[in-house]
Amino acid sequence: MNTTNQQSKIGLITGGSRGIGKSIALHAAKRGMGVILTYNSNPEQGEAVAKEIIDNGGKAVALKLDSGKIGSLEGFINQVTEVLKKEWNRSDFDYLVNNAGIAQRTLIKDTTEEIFDELVNVNFKGVFFLTQKIIPLIKEGGQIINISSGLARFAFPTVAVYGSLKAATEGLTRYFAKEYAGRKIRVNSVAPGAIDTEFGGGKGDEAHRQQIATMTALGRLGEADDIGAFVASLLSDDSRFVNAQRIEVSGGMFI
Ligand code: NDP
Repeated sequence: MNTTNQQSKIGLITGGSRGIGKSIALHAAKRGMGVILTYNSNPEQGEAVAKEIIDNGGKAVALKLDSGKIGSLEGFINQVTEVLKKEWNRSDFDYLVNNAGIAQRTLIKDTTEEIFDELVNVNFKGVFFLTQKIIPLIKEGGQIINISSGLARFAFPTVAVYGSLKAATEGLTRYFAKEYAGRKIRVNSVAPGAIDTEFGGGKGDEAHRQQIATMTALGRLGEADDIGAFVASLLSDDSRFVNAQRIEVSGGMFI
């Protein structure tokens, strides 16, 4: 039974076509929420997630978004406005999940300016400007969740820029929470541990997966659904006093 009135809510989930974002989209829809999800390079996967939701009695639309292309954000937001009107007869929505992200594994000594800029554009600049530009459409009392990473707390070789940008995103979470408190918009970050998706080329061979499991109190790698189920549960009025927080969902990595 849905006790938290999620039925009347609409969530926009970036990178909702695969991995963690797909799981967030499916779990949100299962709770009765309307879903706008985005894909970047693979429209078929985005459409397939929307279809899965619709086939199960929910409501969903898939849109193209490249969050690294700041100039394309206005056009994307116009599309969101049209979809809200057409599908839900609304001019606003309730929840934004900034989930889309990329990884590029290089040691600091091998990190070029090109790699650095690409990581910044998608994982940080895109998050800042999409949120800045779309926040007027977020309903008073709504929520933004920024997907961060355990790598904002602990360090591994080859992910220095990525991990630092996730730490920056956690900082940004608090600043957005501060500036938009007047509209009662809550802003939180969820930091997954190592999750078994295709992200950054996947989690490698069995030995590496085993190594991750031994670093984790619960003794295993995370699944996309471990994050999707949690984020969907956070997208509700039950979490109405949770604001400006970093919540790690890692099964207890490096504790
Ligand atoms: P995946 O690689 O499985 O999925 C990435 C998603 O982001 C896809 O929907 C992809 O769309 C979309 N995407 C990629 N590039 C862009 C872009 N330039 N603009 C907009 N969308 C884009 O990743 P995960 O699901 O594993 O990761 C999701 C989030 O979780 C990321 O922010 C990541 O940093 C974070 N995270 C992941 C962890 C893990 O171990 N997997 C651990 C901690 C955090 P398309 O396929 O169409 O290009």
